[in-house]
Amino acid sequence: MLLQENVPLAPLTTMQVGGPARYFVEAHTHIEVSEAVGLARSRNLPLFVLGGGSNLVISDAGWPGLVLKIAVPGIEVRSEEGKSLFEVGAGETWDKFVARALARNCAGIECLSGIPGSVGGTPVQNVGAYGQEVAETIASVLAFDLRDGQVRELCSEACGFSYRTSIFNSSHRGRYIILRATYALIPDGQPHIQYADLKKYFAGWNGTPTLAETRDAVRKIRASKGMLISPGDDDCRSAGSFFKNPVLSPEQYQELTARAVVRNVQVPSYPALDALKKVSAAWLVEHSGFSKGFGDGPVGISSKHALAIVNRGEATAADIVAFKDLIRQRVEDIWGIRLEPEPVFVGF
Ligand SMILES: Cc1cc2nc3c(=O)[nH]c(=O)nc-3n(C[C@H](O)[C@H](O)[C@H](O)COP(=O)(O)OP(=O)(O)OC[C@H]3O[C@@H](n4cnc5c(N)ncnc54)[C@H](O)[C@@H]3O)c2cc1C
Repeated sequence: MLLQENVPLAPLTTMQVGGPARYFVEAHTHIEVSEAVGLARSRNLPLFVLGGGSNLVISDAGWPGLVLKIAVPGIEVRSEEGKSLFEVGAGETWDKFVARALARNCAGIECLSGIPGSVGGTPVQNVGAYGQEVAETIASVLAFDLRDGQVRELCSEACGFSYRTSIFNSSHRGRYIILRATYALIPDGQPHIQYADLKKYFAGWNGTPTLAETRDAVRKIRASKGMLISPGDDDCRSAGSFFKNPVLSPEQYQELTARAVVRNVQVPSYPALDALKKVSAAWLVEHSGFSKGFGDGPVGISSKHALAIVNRGEATAADIVAFKDLIRQRVEDIWGIRLEPEPVFVGF
């Protein structure tokens, strides 16, 4: 294991801001993960676990301790009780795994095609898109427990999944390093086409789309929204959606609709959001004066999606944070709702 010093972190993230890691190691095996933890402990260094860097804002000062990049590889498949179980190393690229599973005609993650980042990052915020989330297919997660140095297998229930949440980013944040996740997929299953964008894409389609066609559709829709990392597309220098869709109480919802009436607009209704009593954060942002393409400085709103804050190339982390605060304040002033950021802020 190579211990490096003063490694720039910005290039290791999709947002591409932030300073260096004081120390940096990449772990390819469970033993290397354990050794890196031992190293951080022996030198009293704060530890940060890095996956694919697609959900991060790194501070301009960087990280004062050890950044441990998880690079544990491997995709193994076995059959159990009519399911195909894929045991996938946390360091694998998520979309590479999705492509591999779909090539074997296994269903369950086709709508999650094109999401950047590592496999190990997916349980952390229970990654979801276009009507699927990993909570539906994760059978278990193998994790290094920083409390006692043991490796534990956590079943899906123990991961505490809900909307963009798991124990890994809430009650047990910072306790586990994910080494492997096991996904139970359905061999020869049908694609999940429930989300409005996908239904629209396939309207008038001859017959049921295949899993491969569904993946292709999802990636095309994502690209049209700047939500696919595509070389040359400046709109994907982001962390994806910057705010979670707020979950409102009936009183809060009533208050929101009352404010909308005063402004002569209607709060949009989406079946996927309504079921969870969520409102569209993108709508709130857009109806607070931050339309697509807003901003002529180093930071702005994506020209394709109101919810993505984009580094136009020269932004600092401080610029991103100031812009985020501006949006949050304006949304709160106008709509009475405080948006929660989705990315993880590191070193602030
Ligand atoms: C263009 C774009 C589109 C996106 N679209 C979506 C989307 O549709 N749906 C969605 O849910 N997300 C989306 N995201 C956000 C992001 O891709 C996911 O959250 C992704 O799963 C993050 O994984 P990562 O490996 O990049 O994690 P990182 O960004 O490296 O880390 C994120 C957090 O997870 C922790 N972490 C990472 N790996 C491990 C590990 N092995 N063990 C323990 N903790 C770990 C880190 O410490 C950090 O707290 C998008 C991002 C971008 C840039």
